[in-house]
Amino acid sequence: MKDNVAAAKAALAHLDIEEREAAIKTASRDFFWYSPVLKTRLDHVLADFVVRPRNEAEVIEILKVCYAHDVPVTTRGAGTGNYGQAMPLAGGCVMHLRHMDKVREIAPGRVICEPGILLKDLDAQTKEASGQELRMFSSTWATATIGGFIAGGSGGVGSVHWGSLRDLGNIIRLRVVTMEEEPRVLEFRGEELARVSHAYGTNGIITELELPLAPAYDWTGLFVAFDDFGDAMGFADDLANEDGILLKIASVYEAPTAHAYFQRVKPHVDEGTHLVGLMVAPQSMDGFLTFLGRRPKAKLIYRSDDNDWPRDPGPIFEYGWNHTTLRALKVDPSITYLQVRYAFPEHRELVEKMRTEFSPEVLQHLEAIRMNGKIAFAGLSMVKFTTEERLDEIIRLHEEAGALIFNPHRYTLEEGGRQHTDDTQLSFKREADPKGLLNPGKMISWDDPDWSYDRMYAYPHLQAAE
Ligand code: FAD
Repeated sequence: MKDNVAAAKAALAHLDIEEREAAIKTASRDFFWYSPVLKTRLDHVLADFVVRPRNEAEVIEILKVCYAHDVPVTTRGAGTGNYGQAMPLAGGCVMHLRHMDKVREIAPGRVICEPGILLKDLDAQTKEASGQELRMFSSTWATATIGGFIAGGSGGVGSVHWGSLRDLGNIIRLRVVTMEEEPRVLEFRGEELARVSHAYGTNGIITELELPLAPAYDWTGLFVAFDDFGDAMGFADDLANEDGILLKIASVYEAPTAHAYFQRVKPHVDEGTHLVGLMVAPQSMDGFLTFLGRRPKAKLIYRSDDNDWPRDPGPIFEYGWNHTTLRALKVDPSITYLQVRYAFPEHRELVEKMRTEFSPEVLQHLEAIRMNGKIAFAGLSMVKFTTEERLDEIIRLHEEAGALIFNPHRYTLEEGGRQHTDDTQLSFKREADPKGLLNPGKMISWDDPDWSYDRMYAYPHLQAAE
């Protein structure tokens, strides 16, 4: 492998190649360490070199050269994924797309851009040019790229209104480069989008995206406090079902999350406070206040457009989605998390059941999302980690109760998903990556079609720790 890497590097020497060890180490890591299970297994993983293409022609060149020399290629947006998605398990080349950050076209209802642009920069440009914004974004808006969001993310801020990324209409078109002797450039729409969206870059590299936009608003951020968890959950669920009120996020935090982990909120709540975080469109504020007035148990403690808090808490969405876990981890490093789907119509009942069984070992953090037209909950529950065996047991008990788990303590597409082969993605990989060099080790069905999912998959070619 060393000779192959040297030959590939020599052939790509005229590109922006990174060879400093510290920089290679940084570019070889994502947020895998959120999981204590992945941390022990992937901490040593290191690429051999990093290359930063400036355009699609350079992406093609890199894929062609690495194909010729059998060098694995793991694509990197910003490395904020937390399933180890961007970890180069077999070493080789990390292709970092940070230079590919151009917006090509903004039109009513849509934008065309390159994959390496940060979500916040894309949002700023569409707002400035047209008064429009992204329908949804990851709570890592400030640091993540749009390509990484489409290839690795699932939804987030905006999903309460627009559903998930995989829902029809939330991606318009993707342009993709294959890794073959002669790489091809393909354009996918409609049914074909499922080949490469949320495929971790295992079967093609996205070089251009066309996405739908929504009107941009100066969203009002709000925190509403409750003494009872059920009241907080019911408030968020009922509000998200108010058809005339436009929301960007509705999060529920079981006590003592806000008091224990939200430093700037802490002075305004106590240990028993269950909190709801919201972003409401300004034209919906009258409707929201009327809704609030009908709920005597709800206490509005913060609104971003009118408050006397001495310290600004910052954007409300940076308390939601996986930022909740991040805030908890900063205070208590033994916290880890689960990603749970509580489907309609049993979502409230199921959450209460899990809460009764596991609180405070597992604290509920819910995000209201639209699933097949119905409001339900994505749970990013916080778990006080003790052992892998106990974590697996908690996961099993959730599944037995009917809560779907997307296991964030696994690095493969299948185990982080629904634990079955995605034939669309697999068959496209056969065509687009015949040597299996794209982000190796992330698609079990490619490596071991008969895998039974009865234990954690261990990629046989994972770099050995020294
Ligand atoms: P990376 O981590 O660099 O890449 C993600 C995956 O996509 C990798 O497998 C990579 O190889 C692949 N990839 C990247 N670019 C391309 C490309 N152009 N073509 C093909 N493959 C590519 N996720 C959510 O969905 N919603 C959230 O709200 C959310 N909140 C988060 C909060 C925190 C604090 C953290 C740490 C993570 C969160 N995530 C969330 C996960 C992650 O931040 C997002 O999915 C993010 O959008 C990934 O973008 P990135 O640029 O960092 O991608």
